Amino acid sequence: MHTGSYVNGTWYHPNSRETARNINPADTSDVIAEFPLATAADVQRAIDAAKAAWTGWRKTPGPERGRVLWRAADIARRRADEIAATLTREEGKVLREAKGEVMKGISLLEYYAGEGFRMHGRTLPSETRDCFTYTLRQPLGTVGLIAPWNFPWAIPVWKSAPALVAGNCVVFKPSELVPATAAILTEVYEEAGLPPGVFNMVVGSGPDVGEAMVHAPQLRAISFTGSNRVGGELYVKAAKRGAKVTCEMGGKNAVIVMPDADLDKAAAAIHGGAFGSTGQRCTATSRVIAHPDIKQALIDRLVASAEKIKVGPGLDTTMDMGPSIADRQWQTVMGYIEAGRKEGARLLTGGHRPDHLSQGWFIAPTIFDNVTPGMKIFQEEIFGPVLSVATATSLEDALTKANGVEYGLTTSIFTQDINTVMRFIEDVEVGMVHVNEPTVGGEAQLPFGGTKSTGVGEREMAEEGLNFFTEIKTVFVNYGGAAGPSLTR
Ligand code: NAD
Repeated sequence: MHTGSYVNGTWYHPNSRETARNINPADTSDVIAEFPLATAADVQRAIDAAKAAWTGWRKTPGPERGRVLWRAADIARRRADEIAATLTREEGKVLREAKGEVMKGISLLEYYAGEGFRMHGRTLPSETRDCFTYTLRQPLGTVGLIAPWNFPWAIPVWKSAPALVAGNCVVFKPSELVPATAAILTEVYEEAGLPPGVFNMVVGSGPDVGEAMVHAPQLRAISFTGSNRVGGELYVKAAKRGAKVTCEMGGKNAVIVMPDADLDKAAAAIHGGAFGSTGQRCTATSRVIAHPDIKQALIDRLVASAEKIKVGPGLDTTMDMGPSIADRQWQTVMGYIEAGRKEGARLLTGGHRPDHLSQGWFIAPTIFDNVTPGMKIFQEEIFGPVLSVATATSLEDALTKANGVEYGLTTSIFTQDINTVMRFIEDVEVGMVHVNEPTVGGEAQLPFGGTKSTGVGEREMAEEGLNFFTEIKTVFVNYGGAAGPSLTR
């Protein structure tokens, strides 16, 4: 694995004294690598390389561009175990989850490889006689991708694959916390045959490299996934200079459990949504809103299964849940647990670092009962293995509570009643709705993203993800004798 940045088809170590120390969150004495931090000057080099490569890449036929992604999928499949192990070592999620993430990235590569054969516009009738009117989708040029740490493989793939297949050249900044998986993705694209300059990776800090990208006029689009704290400012700055921007940010996802729900199924889904990936998913289940008639029976199941979770290093295949990503995230989660206690929620299990796991940023699976809408743990994204249980006496009450947060990413309901399901789908304020299944998950061909404070700009993945990285051109071809437009134009 390379430990530098990649510009114009060349790996190099930026000329900087500062480094990103890539540390295993399950064992902080394990330093995976030191990546020298790039600077704004490196961003400019990457942009120059991307601009120089663009004409050649955009003139490459779409199916040819797609075949490069297909080869990348094959290479990733060959290297899947290595990618998953690296991902687990630097991000912390257990190996089984890391393998799932690698496979998701592969299906995204395959999906977008196929899009290279489509890239379709539309033909529409003209008001004018003998005039052929249609639309084309064309690449934007050079685009900037800024990724978070929690899906170090899948998110960079779901941003870069549509950008590349649409004919754009890319400057990609991974999170400083997970540069190793990003380096492997770059190696995969290199081996798949992307020409020099088409894909550039710059490892640097947000305030330095990230800011430089946001302000660079040559980057026609910025695709950002991360926190609201960073994304809110970034959106304003990039939009102000006329860039196309998409920001996918935080979530505070709820599962509503109605009195007629299958409680075993609901408990299993909530368990996976809350504690899978250590709760470090934008789609994590953070809140349960349960009817009082079944709340205790549900809680009994949730506490029993949470207490069976084996917490430990993700590279140990007997473990179920890994650590928080880093010191800062661990402190944040522990701060929310403290806030829950202080605000009067009832701690049912967890709330501490397991005694035998002091070598990493571990937190025991945590469940609070008696959580009310005014509490911080009901309202704010925690991004850790902490579940808050509240009650609602009717669907209307449950919807008011589920919708009563600033975020709008995903919500699920458990019920057998079709009328309840349809009302819920209509009135819940989120980008993704689940019925009788967990809040987590997405598929390459389905649009992914949220409403309200969660997301601005186009959805990611699917056709929408490709649309973001293209511009529409409307074409009028007049092949008749009479010149000039119709009266309605
Ligand atoms: P973050 O906002 O701290 O960082 C995200 C990226 O932005 C990193 O690469 C970082 O270096 C960069 N950055 C930081 N400051 C910057 C600046 N001033 N200018 C430009 N770039 C800058 O987020 P994080 O902690 O890496 O990720 C966790 C967050 O991501 C959570 O809130 C989570 O919900 C969200 N997330 C959302 C989705 C989604 O699709 N909605 C998916 C995954 C994660």
